[in-house]
Amino acid sequence: MDKIIKKNEEYNESNCGLHETLFHNANGYIGVRGCLEEGVPEEWDTMRGTYINGFYDVIAMKQAENLRNLVEEKQTMLNVADTQTVYLKIDKEFFSLKTGTVLKNIRTLNMKEGYTLREIHWKSPKGKEVSISIKRMTSFVQLSLFTIEYCVTPINFNGKISFLSYHIANVSNYSNPNDPRLAAESEMYLIPQKVEIMDGYSLATSKTRKSELSMCSVVAHKMIATQKVKETSWREENAIIFEASVYTAKSEHIVLEKYSVFSDSIRNKNLEETAVMDLEKVLNNGLNYYYNTQKEYLKHFWYQSELEVMGDEGMNQAVSFNMYQLLQSAAKDCHCNIAAKGLSGEGYEGHYFWDTEMFIAPFFTLTNPELSKTLLSYRYDILEAARENARSLGHKKGVLFPWRTIAGKECSGYFPSGTAQYHIDGDIAYAIMSYYHTTGDLDFIKEKGEEILLETARLWLDVGNYSDGKFVINDVTGPDEYTCMINNNYYTNCCAKYNLLAAVTLYKLLKEKNEIQKLVDKIQLSENEIVEMEEAAEKMYLLYDKKMGINPQDDSFLSKPIWNLEETPKEKFPLLLHYHPLHLYRYQVCKQADVVLAYYLFEKEQTRETMIKSYEYYEKITTHDSSLSTCVFSIVASRLGMKKKAYDYFGNSAKLDLENIHNNTKYGIHTANMGGCYMAIVNGFAELRISEKGVSIAPFLPEKWEGYRFKFRYLGNLIRIFVKKEEIIAELVEGTAISIRIFAKQYELALQEKVIVNYK
Ligand code: BGC
Repeated sequence: MDKIIKKNEEYNESNCGLHETLFHNANGYIGVRGCLEEGVPEEWDTMRGTYINGFYDVIAMKQAENLRNLVEEKQTMLNVADTQTVYLKIDKEFFSLKTGTVLKNIRTLNMKEGYTLREIHWKSPKGKEVSISIKRMTSFVQLSLFTIEYCVTPINFNGKISFLSYHIANVSNYSNPNDPRLAAESEMYLIPQKVEIMDGYSLATSKTRKSELSMCSVVAHKMIATQKVKETSWREENAIIFEASVYTAKSEHIVLEKYSVFSDSIRNKNLEETAVMDLEKVLNNGLNYYYNTQKEYLKHFWYQSELEVMGDEGMNQAVSFNMYQLLQSAAKDCHCNIAAKGLSGEGYEGHYFWDTEMFIAPFFTLTNPELSKTLLSYRYDILEAARENARSLGHKKGVLFPWRTIAGKECSGYFPSGTAQYHIDGDIAYAIMSYYHTTGDLDFIKEKGEEILLETARLWLDVGNYSDGKFVINDVTGPDEYTCMINNNYYTNCCAKYNLLAAVTLYKLLKEKNEIQKLVDKIQLSENEIVEMEEAAEKMYLLYDKKMGINPQDDSFLSKPIWNLEETPKEKFPLLLHYHPLHLYRYQVCKQADVVLAYYLFEKEQTRETMIKSYEYYEKITTHDSSLSTCVFSIVASRLGMKKKAYDYFGNSAKLDLENIHNNTKYGIHTANMGGCYMAIVNGFAELRISEKGVSIAPFLPEKWEGYRFKFRYLGNLIRIFVKKEEIIAELVEGTAISIRIFAKQYELALQEKVIVNYK
C-alpha cells in the first residue's frame, strides 16, 4: 500500500511507547505523541507529550567539581499543554481497551494525506458495541494547529454518548534516571498562568520557570450529531474540561471535532491574540479545508522528493516513512532546528546536534533547498552564542558551535563526548558548501554563509598549532564517542582542512566580485588570516600508517588493545550503558563511523586501496551502538564496490524505527539515521555527488530490487534518475538544459528528454 502504514495494535505496555512515537503527529513546529486519547494504566511507561520546536526552559546541571567554565545549565525541550486527552462514555461505562472486548484495533499513518487514524471496534463489559475512529493531524499549512476528529457509532444499542475532552496546563517532562540519553530529573518547568473558559473556547497560558518564555494554547470543539447535544465546560485546577453528550440511536455517527492552536513568545509578541486569531480562522475554514490543504502540501512534497524502490514494497514503505518523519521534524522557521528525535519524544531533551548538518540537511538540500537554508540560517542566528562558547573555552578568535543545544548555548554536561567534538564547526561548514554547490545561492553565502565559514575557520587556527611543520589539532573528540579527547582525529582534521579551504575559496570569489568588504569590516578580518588559513589547510596533519596502509583514527588509536567484540555478550550492548567511559576509551572500539565517515565526505584525501583496508579494519571494531553509523558504512561500501555489504548495512538502518531495532524508539525517532537511509540510496547506491565540478552519478542496483528512482534539485533544475536492471534513465523534469556525468561520461540533459545509459 502506497505511503500507508497500518498496524494491528495489541494493547500492551511495550507497544504503548513505541506506537506513541511511530504514530506521532508533527509539522516542524508542534509535535504530539500518539498517546491514546483515553489514557493507559498508570503503571505503564508512557510519555504523554506535546512539544513546540525551540521552546525550552533552562535547568541546572550540577557538576560534581567546580572546575572553570564547565557547563552548569542546560536547555531542555518542554512538554506543553496536553490537548489530546478525550474520554468517551457510553451511558455509564468509560471506553477503555483495558476493559470489555476489543474486536478490532488498527492504527494507520497516512503519509499521502498527512494524518494518523485509530479504528476500533469495542464491546463494553455490559455488551454495548461501538465503532470508533479517531483521526489526528498537525497541519503543515497552519503550523499552530493540531486537530482530533473523534467519531463514534453505536452498533447494537440506543443510548447516551458523552465526550469529556481535556485541556490540561498542568504538565511535566518525562524522565529516566537510568538512561544517559534522557533527562534524569522530572520537574514541572512550565507554570500555568491563566487557565480560562472563554466564549466558545478555552485558553491556557504558561510561563517557564527560568527561560522567561511563555506559551499559549486555545482549544475549541464542534459537535456533529443529528440529535440535540448538551455541552458544558468547567475548570478543575489547571485543566478545563469540556463535556458534550447526546442521546443517539443505533448506527448514527456522532463526531467531536477538537481544534487546538498553540503559540509561543519566541515567535509572537502577543501570544494570546495570535492563538485566538488563528483559532478563529481555523474554525471558519473548517476541518475539511485543512485536510485538503494537507493533502495538497504532501502531494507537492512527494512530487519533489520522490524516492521509490521497486521490487521490495516493505523497503519502499520504510524509506517513505523515514522521509515523512524528516518532514515532520524539520524546523519551518529560523527559531529552531531538527532535534535528534524530531518532535516525537523527549530522548536527548529536544537538542539539536551535528545530526542536522551531516545526516538530515543533505536530504533537504537535494529536494527542498529552502528548508536547508532555514536550517543553516538558524546556525547563523546562534553565531553570537557560538562565539561566547569559544571564548569560554579559551579561544581568542572564531566561533565554536555547541555540541548540543536548543537556543544556542552549549548544553552538553559531559565535555569529553560533548563539547570536545569540535568537528561540529567543520560539519556546518560542509553543509553550507553542499547547499551552495547544489543551489548556486551566492546571496546566502554573502549574507550568512561566508561569515560562518570564516569564523569557524578562525577557530581552527586558534585551536591547532604547528608541530614539526605539520598543523596539528590536539585534545578533541571525533564522531566516535567511545574514543575521547585525543590528538589529530582523522575525521576532525579532514573537516578542519575542508572548512579552512572553503572559507578561503569563497572569500576569494566574493573579493573578485567586490562583495566582501562589508563582511571584512564587520568581523575585522585581515588578509594575513586568509594566508594563515590556506597554510594551515595545506599543512593539515592527516594520519596515515604506512605499515598497515590505513588511516588511524587518531595519534594513539592503534597503540591500544582491540576490544573483543565477538566475546562481548549481546546484553552488554550498547556498551555505553554497561562500561565506564574511561574503560571504553582505552580500547580500539568504535561506537560509530569515524574514519569511514571521512571517506564518504572527503573521498579525495586518500587512495581507494587505503580506503578498502581501513574500511575492513574499522568494520571489525565498530559496534554501531549509535544509529548514525550503519548508513555511513553502507554509503562507503557502495563507493568501494562492496555491494552486498552496502545493502546489508542499508537494510539495518532503513527499518530501525519501524522495527524498533535499537529498542529505544519509544523515546523518539532517530532522525539522523532516517536521513542516512536516504543518503545510503541516493549517495550510496546511486553515488550521486555534487561539487564545484558539477553533478555526477555512478549507480548500481541492489540485487533484491527491480529498480529505484529519485528526483533531486540541482541549480534550480529538477532531475529524475531511474536505475533499472540494465539501464539508467536520466531526465530533466523542470528547468533548462543541464550537464550530468554518468559513470565517467558527460551527458547533456534537455527539458523532458530522456538520456538512457546502458550498464552491466
Ligand atoms: C551519537 C552522536 C549523535 C547523538 C544524537 C549519539 O549517540 O554518538 O553522534 O549526535 O547520539 O543523535
